[in-house]
Amino acid sequence: MATLLLRNGRVIDPVTATDAILDVVIREGVVVTVGPPPEADAAAAPPDSDVEVVDCSGLLVTPGLIDLHCHVMTGLGDFCVEADQVGVDMGVPVVVDGGTSGVATFDISRRAVIDHPDTRTKVLAFIDPNQLYLATRDFICHKLTIANDLKNLDMASLEASLARNADVVVGLKARACHVGDDQHSPFLEAAQQAGGPLPVMVHLGRFPHTPVITPAALLRSMRGGDIITHAFRGAGGMIGADGKAIPEFRDAVDRGVVLDVGHSGTDFRFKEARRLFEQGYRPDTASTDLNVFNIGGPVYSLAETLTKLLALGLDLHDVVAMGTSNVARVIGRSDELGTIAPGRPAELSVLRLRTDGPFPVSDGVETVQSPAALEPIGCVRAGQWVPSAGVASFAATGRTWTDAAEGEDW
Ligand SMILES: [Zn+2]
Repeated sequence: MATLLLRNGRVIDPVTATDAILDVVIREGVVVTVGPPPEADAAAAPPDSDVEVVDCSGLLVTPGLIDLHCHVMTGLGDFCVEADQVGVDMGVPVVVDGGTSGVATFDISRRAVIDHPDTRTKVLAFIDPNQLYLATRDFICHKLTIANDLKNLDMASLEASLARNADVVVGLKARACHVGDDQHSPFLEAAQQAGGPLPVMVHLGRFPHTPVITPAALLRSMRGGDIITHAFRGAGGMIGADGKAIPEFRDAVDRGVVLDVGHSGTDFRFKEARRLFEQGYRPDTASTDLNVFNIGGPVYSLAETLTKLLALGLDLHDVVAMGTSNVARVIGRSDELGTIAPGRPAELSVLRLRTDGPFPVSDGVETVQSPAALEPIGCVRAGQWVPSAGVASFAATGRTWTDAAEGEDW
């Protein structure tokens, strides 16, 4: 197999605290060397070997971006986008489906998407603990009130599915519906019980047709390592009347509950984010919740979501970590993802840090001028170079919004 050389890029690796001009040499899907040019290339690639060179001069080379929350089980309902469209084609080698599927439809979903030979992106998934669950445009499992029906839970089947799919399922996605007591969600509890040490991602917000437990009860129910997605949404109940984070939120963060962006159309607000950032609460992970409602704006891409965090004044190194190493840690995959090191699977992203702005970015309501922007150039997926092309952004399209109504998110 040919050698791939990412030449002369600015390598930012949060795990090793690297920020330096380096060459990365890849062969047979594995990182061979990371070192200063040109010594690294000569050592790794014999003079007459077949070398594909990607000139990364002036570009960032990071561990492969991981989108912790998007919806890519196309063909299961009508809500998902193609994995490669939001994955490798946007410079993101690894995506995690945010619980589009419940147990009964998971195996066919993995065959159709995750394991399909045409899928180039590495797809991992959160699974909903219900037997029948699918995210659709019309919230069908909520409309039919099966998202809050205890008959939809089967612990033995759920546990068997988790064991069978342990190679791709990184956790569970619970919709914290209740069956009369707004302090307890049997569905969240089932997810935590069946998953054991696996993280449970919880959607902060409501659903039509079925009630969810209160925000305070939700926060009290979460364990260290569990994930609040949409953590920086407006009207999420995280901030009290005094403008401060509510005690349950502070306690949850102190326990190690993970704060995930989960942008979506309605679930990330600059205003709310600023208030939480000012109180010291920043995202651990920066995911998109990309789906049919928001890919055409205001979300666009993971890179655009990272740009929005730069626009709010976060440090570049921290923002890179929110899209790479922090995500790997949260999903328990730090042994293979989230850093660039010899012997590791070659999943990397190449981005241009543009400073020739300002670059307007929109949360769907408010537009902010960012001094810098991250533009996807390509990624290395399982050792293969995949260039990005024509990734849309608000700056390029001026389009803030599709026709999604408030609450159309998962
Ligand atoms: Zn979602």
